[in-house]
Amino acid sequence: MGKDHLECVTRDDIDRYQLFKLRQTVAYVTEKSAFYRELLGRKSITGEDIHTLSDLSLLPFTEPADIAEHPYNFTCVPLGEIERATTFISSGTIGPQKRVFFTEKDLEIMTDFMGVGMRTVAKQGDTVMIMLPGARVNGQSDLLAKGVRKMGGRPIKAEVTLTSEKLLQIIDRSRPTTLFTAVPLMWRITQETRGHGDLSSKGVQKIFITAAYPPQSMIEQIRDIWNCDVHVHYGLTEMGLGVAVDCQAHTGYHYDEADLLVEVVDPVTGEVLGNDQEGELVFTTLNRSAMPLLRYRTHDLSSLSGETCPCGAATLKKIGKVTRRRESIVRLSGGAEIYPSLFDELLFTIPEIIDYQLSLGKKDGKDALSFTIEVIERGERVQQRILRLLAEYPVIRENVTQGGMAPPDVELVNRGALLSMSRAKKMILDERLKGGR
Ligand SMILES: [Zn+2]
Repeated sequence: MGKDHLECVTRDDIDRYQLFKLRQTVAYVTEKSAFYRELLGRKSITGEDIHTLSDLSLLPFTEPADIAEHPYNFTCVPLGEIERATTFISSGTIGPQKRVFFTEKDLEIMTDFMGVGMRTVAKQGDTVMIMLPGARVNGQSDLLAKGVRKMGGRPIKAEVTLTSEKLLQIIDRSRPTTLFTAVPLMWRITQETRGHGDLSSKGVQKIFITAAYPPQSMIEQIRDIWNCDVHVHYGLTEMGLGVAVDCQAHTGYHYDEADLLVEVVDPVTGEVLGNDQEGELVFTTLNRSAMPLLRYRTHDLSSLSGETCPCGAATLKKIGKVTRRRESIVRLSGGAEIYPSLFDELLFTIPEIIDYQLSLGKKDGKDALSFTIEVIERGERVQQRILRLLAEYPVIRENVTQGGMAPPDVELVNRGALLSMSRAKKMILDERLKGGR
């Protein structure tokens, strides 16, 4: 990511540039944003107090709830200069609604980044099929299409509401070399159309999937079935959609260090953690004009790698795999923590599974996991296989053996039954408090 123009740049150069941009950003938001003027004013911090990059930790955090509560207090430009305002819900169907604003210049930087990111997986003249929501002007899909045009590619925008069969027809007709979509949709298309012919013969060379916590088992199957490279993109709407992309090494995500400062902090104490220590990702934007963010807490847990990446990007830092979101963690009565990506990794090893939903309730005073699983075809064999796999899974096996958990319940549902849930971030629905304990 950004390797081309950073190859002859040293780590020192990047640090110096980031320090300059950080001081500039702090001065800018203090002057322009009501929220930061108040927040930094309370601590009497100005850009002058930032002498080194580690002084970043002097700045207070920005919480997602701050944006939800006072979106307009963040804006640094007159409302007339805002080209795009995005309203989104942070995780699944719960969490506060947030509004994020971008100016034309912000959108230019965003689509530049998308173009550069695209260049790592596609080349000039390639046809890139985009299956994302927001085909309208400056919607997600539209912006990525601009990014593709910037790198000399030909974008095709396909509606995400089309059936898998229809999407496959578009692939057959337009012969894209690259597909770009979210992981649940890519998985659904793969699962629902693999029976209709050999997907590896479609001419697709790269699949670029955007995902918060992509299950490795799913990525490997997509790679095998389409017989092509699969790259993962980590994005966050608050950050301008594109944050980071994984490289050939597939061990984490490179990001644009000219545009973003990344820290990993202890989720409880807020203390800055060292390389390779797992904690919460915290982002500071360096070039945003409508709505810059200082030390924005993503609630996503990951780490920063300081080691040279096998891809050769020696000077660039790398975000490790994102494993879970703070809100997605549910604590069992026995103390163990569970979160969706644990079960994603397990369940998507079974090729018949398209999607699933999970809730945690109470049965005879014990924790009880209920899985609603969408499969290609319902049947006793696949049901038994899933039950066996779950029963053997350490966290379930241990809690059932110790008497704190009832054996999990599995209900299979027909193809399409969970379609409407596919686009939300997966959560474990904790219903234990509902019906009394
Ligand atoms: Zn790399």
